[in-house]
Amino acid sequence: MSQSEKTCYLDNNATTRVAPEVVEAMMPYFTENWGNPSAAYGFGNRLTKDLDAAREQVATLINAEPREIIFTSCGTESNNSAFHAALITQPEKRHIVTTKVEHAANIAYSEQLKKQGCEVTFLPVEPDGSIDLHLLELAIRPDTALVSMMWANNETGVLFPIYEAAAICRSKGVLFHTDAVQAAGKVDIDVKLTEVSMLSISGHKLNAPKGVGALFVKRRTPYESFITGGGQERGRRGGTYNVPYIIGMGIAAEMAHFHLTRDVHRVRTLRDRMEEGILKRIKVSCRNGSHDLRLPNTCNVCFHGVEAEAVLMLLDKAGICASSGSACKTGSIEPSHVLTAMGLRPSLARGALRFSLGVYNTEEDVDYLLETLPPIIDKLREVTLETDVEPIESIESGGSTVVSA
Ligand code: PLP
Repeated sequence: MSQSEKTCYLDNNATTRVAPEVVEAMMPYFTENWGNPSAAYGFGNRLTKDLDAAREQVATLINAEPREIIFTSCGTESNNSAFHAALITQPEKRHIVTTKVEHAANIAYSEQLKKQGCEVTFLPVEPDGSIDLHLLELAIRPDTALVSMMWANNETGVLFPIYEAAAICRSKGVLFHTDAVQAAGKVDIDVKLTEVSMLSISGHKLNAPKGVGALFVKRRTPYESFITGGGQERGRRGGTYNVPYIIGMGIAAEMAHFHLTRDVHRVRTLRDRMEEGILKRIKVSCRNGSHDLRLPNTCNVCFHGVEAEAVLMLLDKAGICASSGSACKTGSIEPSHVLTAMGLRPSLARGALRFSLGVYNTEEDVDYLLETLPPIIDKLREVTLETDVEPIESIESGGSTVVSA
């Protein structure tokens, strides 16, 4: 089979393939064990022990206690719930601190909170995507209800210093939430070693299905439910248990925990080869974000003189899935809010692409990308550089390798 007949999937920060072991573990909960765990009879309530096992598997991934895990429907719900809980349990506090580069799940929710009378401070980032914790100290006020800072950025993979940020918040008596949706399963997380109050995880980023997530809530953290109903999750999240998905997330978390070191090393080696290959083969290109302080699987690069959307279309024709951080708003392409917060010129940010690897990627995938991408960029540059774009010798993005023509 030629490569173009198959999908070369390089967009694992968007979603991941459900592991076959996960599918297998979930199946009996659709076909045989489909009862309601909250029921009074054994056919339903015997499933409680399976839910308990899944809760323990997810807790183990981050070294939490099982009772500190609340199952949710996704990472977005986990993030929104953390904000909601911090505000509702501290009604006298109406200020939130977060960063300019968070996922839309936090940015959009913060914007909504502003309309409801809350104040939100969005911390800026450095050109390499890192954060100055001194600014965090300055931003915290007596009425700050919550600081929320992502563990790893979904576009650049840049890691924030969560242990230090959480310690600052603890010393000031402020709740601290981290969106670890991209970090869980890719970096070591030990909630016993941090002062993190709440932490979000999403199943579909670690080879479980879409539609299941978890929120870690540290013991004794004030918490009130976002979704109320039948008293499930010890009154902390209403709604009938999504048993098959929770079971799937448990198995995926166990696999991620068990294979963390081995998979991370393999994926990092592949990613580094891919990134070096791209920057070497394509002139006037550069990496966005810190080289070292980032996820092992993520590579964000920009190319002078091309629109990422055009590159993505041609890659798609060749069977390659990747993404850009751009968003289509009111009919025009807006550059990524993450890259513009890092100070990248909008024209360059529009030429940025993200390639994110997963446990199923192979050397063959990387070879195919390295063979396919350079002619696509050359072809698009022939058109654009002749017309609207000033040719330049080199470009620079904060903290990245500069590759000149
Ligand atoms: N947070 C981050 C950093 C993400 O990358 C995503 C998804 O891309 C989310 C939150 C939202 O997770 P979900 O898709 O499970 O709602």
